[in-house]
Amino acid sequence: MRVIDLRSDTVTLPCDKMREAMANAAVGDDVYGEDPTVNELQVKAAQLAGKEAALFVPSGTAGNLIAVLTHSERGQEVILDKEGHIYYYEVGSAAMFGGVQLNTVAGLLSENGPEVLAKAFRPANLHFPPTGLVCMENTFNRGGGTVMSAKTMSKMYNMCKERNLNVHLDGARIFHAATASGVNVKEFTRSCDSVMFCLSKGLGAPVGSLLAGSEEFIAKALRYRKALGGGLRQAGILAAAGLVALENITRLSEDHVNAGRLAQALNDLPGLEIDLNSVQTNIISVNFSGQITAAEFVQKMAEKGVKCNATGPYSVRLVTHLNISGSDVDRAISIIENIMKQS
Ligand SMILES: *Cc1c(COP(=O)(O)O)cnc(C)c1O
Repeated sequence: MRVIDLRSDTVTLPCDKMREAMANAAVGDDVYGEDPTVNELQVKAAQLAGKEAALFVPSGTAGNLIAVLTHSERGQEVILDKEGHIYYYEVGSAAMFGGVQLNTVAGLLSENGPEVLAKAFRPANLHFPPTGLVCMENTFNRGGGTVMSAKTMSKMYNMCKERNLNVHLDGARIFHAATASGVNVKEFTRSCDSVMFCLSKGLGAPVGSLLAGSEEFIAKALRYRKALGGGLRQAGILAAAGLVALENITRLSEDHVNAGRLAQALNDLPGLEIDLNSVQTNIISVNFSGQITAAEFVQKMAEKGVKCNATGPYSVRLVTHLNISGSDVDRAISIIENIMKQS
C-alpha cells in the first residue's frame, strides 16, 4: 500500500532529475568561495529575492539564527509574533547564541499587524532593551499557512524604517505566499532587509535554505555561518539539488489546489471543522468537535496508510506537497470519511 504522507512538506523526496544533477554537479571548496554550483545557486537566489547577495545555509533554522545574529546585538530585543517559528520552534537559539530578548506579541502576523506593531515599539528609556530587529513570517506556519498581504507587509516595513529598524522575513514558504497571491515574490521581499527561504520543504530539495540581503549583510552573515559550523566544502552536490528545486516554484499552485479540494471535502463531514478562509496555501488545520481525539484520528489514519500530525489534543495538520497527487487526495478523503462515520 502506498503511504500518503500529509505530515509536512519536509517529507518530499528528491526526484531522479535532482539526483542526477547532484551526481554531476561541478564542485569546489565553498569555504574558499570556489564551488561553482553553490555560487550559481546564490546568484539565482539573490536575483529571485531581489537582493544584492545570498548565502546557502544548511537549514531554515540556521538561516534565521544567522539573520538574528547579523542584525542585532546582545541585550537588544527582537519583536516577533508569539506563534512565530523563530520563537516557537527554534530551540531558543536567538537567546542561546545571540543573547537577545524575544519580545513576542500576538497578532503581528495578521492583517492587523501594523496596529499590533505600533503598540509593540517601545520608546527609548533606560529601563527598556533597545529594539534590534523585527521578524515577520510569510506564509505563517502556525497560522495554518496563511498569507500576509504584500500591502500589509509594506506598511509594517515602513513603520520599522521610520524607526531605523531592520526587518528579517522568515520566508520558509515565501514562494507559497507569492503563488497564492498571484504576484512576484519581490512584492513581499521588498518589505524586508533579509529573507530566508527553504529549498527542502515544498520545493523538494533534500537539504538547504537561502538567506538573502545586501552585500554588506551577507558578508557579515558569512562569518556567523562559519562560526556556527555551517561552512561547507563541496556543497555544490547539495546546491545542485537546490537549483532543480527552484524549478518546482511554478508547480506550487497544484499543492494549493489539492489542499483546497481536501479542505472543502472534509469540511462537509460531521465531527470536524476547518476554517476554510485560513486554507490559503498547502496547510490545512483540522479541529475535531470532541467525538474523536487527535491521537485517535492519527492512529486510525496510520492504519489506513495515511500519515498526519496532531497539533493539539483535538487538532491535526494536513500538508499537501510535491509527492501528493490528486488521486492521493481522493483516497485520503474517502479514508477520512470512513473514520468520521465510525467515530
Ligand atoms: C520549517 C520552517 C523553518 C525552519 O526550517 P528548517 O529547515 O526545518 O530548519 C523556519 N520557519 C518556518 C516558517 C518554517 O516553516
